[in-house]
Amino acid sequence: MIKSNQLKVYNSLSGQKETFEPINQDKVGMYVCGPTVYSNVHLGNVRTFMSFDMIYRYLNYLGYKVRYVRNITDAGHLTDDGNVENDRFVKQSKLEKLEPMEIVQKYTVDFHKVLDVFNLLPPTIEPTATGHIVEQIVLTQKLIDLGLAYEVNGSVYFDVLAYNERGLNYGELSNRNIEELISNTRDLDGQGEKKNPVDFALWKNASPAHIMRWSSPWGDGFPGWHLECTVMSTKYLGDYFDIHGGGMDLKFPHHECEIAQAKGVHQHEPVKYWMHANMLTMNGQRMSKSTGNYILPMQLVKGDNDFFEKPFPASVVRFCFLQAHYRSVLDISNEAMLASEKGYHRLMDALKTLETLEAKEASTFEIEEWVSKLYAAMDDDFNTPVLIAHLFDGVKIINSIKENNGRLRKDDLDLLKNEFKGFVTEVLGLRNDQANGQNNQLDEAIKLLIEIRNQARVDKNFALSDEIRDRLANAGIQLKDGKNGTEYQH
Ligand code: AMP
Ligand code: ZN
Repeated sequence: MIKSNQLKVYNSLSGQKETFEPINQDKVGMYVCGPTVYSNVHLGNVRTFMSFDMIYRYLNYLGYKVRYVRNITDAGHLTDDGNVENDRFVKQSKLEKLEPMEIVQKYTVDFHKVLDVFNLLPPTIEPTATGHIVEQIVLTQKLIDLGLAYEVNGSVYFDVLAYNERGLNYGELSNRNIEELISNTRDLDGQGEKKNPVDFALWKNASPAHIMRWSSPWGDGFPGWHLECTVMSTKYLGDYFDIHGGGMDLKFPHHECEIAQAKGVHQHEPVKYWMHANMLTMNGQRMSKSTGNYILPMQLVKGDNDFFEKPFPASVVRFCFLQAHYRSVLDISNEAMLASEKGYHRLMDALKTLETLEAKEASTFEIEEWVSKLYAAMDDDFNTPVLIAHLFDGVKIINSIKENNGRLRKDDLDLLKNEFKGFVTEVLGLRNDQANGQNNQLDEAIKLLIEIRNQARVDKNFALSDEIRDRLANAGIQLKDGKNGTEYQH
């Protein structure tokens, strides 16, 4: 049974909030564009994946059976100028003196580790671009056969004008007009081989030096970036599925091209609800590797950076992100993190208190009404900031019962316990970082040793303070004395 059928989702395709009605009753197919694994994910990437993790979690919480596909881009994502020499994987593999597939493995492992620390659920299928080369070649051939793609010098391009002549409307997702696009598009991709600057690569011819290459009917080459998502989404979710997501910046050209590829073959929209998550900014500027305005997730968690005054547990970061609506820009700052830390602890303390509450004869709170507000917030296009505000009302209820200023009957108390815990831990995915996990036990032990060392320094017992520092260093734990006291890394 689905717990609520009031869910409304903002659909980027229509520009409106629409009632969520899955194509196949209680089953939901959701595809989210995954990372390009040629370097570590930054905190901005984590925000987008966390937005869709929250959406996945709420759909599960409502009782939907979700097939959640998130790919790994491990080939074919070129830097801007489309020159094969600018293949991100090849470039990085030269820099690190590793095989391209070693680069892929290294950063895929890092990606999984980071998402695990931030308590993101794994997708139900995680396909790779290199695992679906055959399907990409087949789709390219189909588009050629349909007259929607053409080959030049071993590369194949999608013919945007031919597509539009069939009334298929390229630009519908990003509201771009084809004439404007043509006059605005620099020749980014293909050095003048294309019939039209808006055409995009389905398959690229590999130069002799290019290592990541596969044989195809057009010679050795590699797939264009947009192709993999069309192939993998339709393979696992069918040619019409419920949700396709990604960061705002993927709307154009990536998602526009995905629609064109699928619609070109199937003659209908591939996706019912297109969803786009907004950006994380730092110093008011979009977080991005290329501009250098970024922070790695583990640098924030370990306090290994110059931007934040102290380390912040992953759950606090998670809480901070979810305090913003997924379609709003979020500017991360020290102040925001400190405020989130307080809010996070209030929720965790209330979770603990909740376990100690006992039922009474009568209720002095309307718990059903309060619960309906939690669902209403999430049903309104996953409004997590409003949900969190209602959860804080729940904290007030919990604390007043604890202080005997109010009471609940057993059925109301059970409902409060189930839904408060459910929304905090299952929907928001917040776990008690202080109570779980070996790292936190280790952190506690290190903090204790730092306190003993500080006391030793006050007592001028430098032999002891140096020994603590040196033995921790031997164990791989570095202490750093600074203006904010002693910090550590391990
Ligand atoms: P990439 O690995 O570059 O393909 O990016 C992975 C995901 O992170 C995509 O969905 C991007 O839209 C998203 N992304 C990139 N930069 C940011 C940012 N500053 N804030 C939020 N999401 C981002
Ligand atoms: Zn994609």
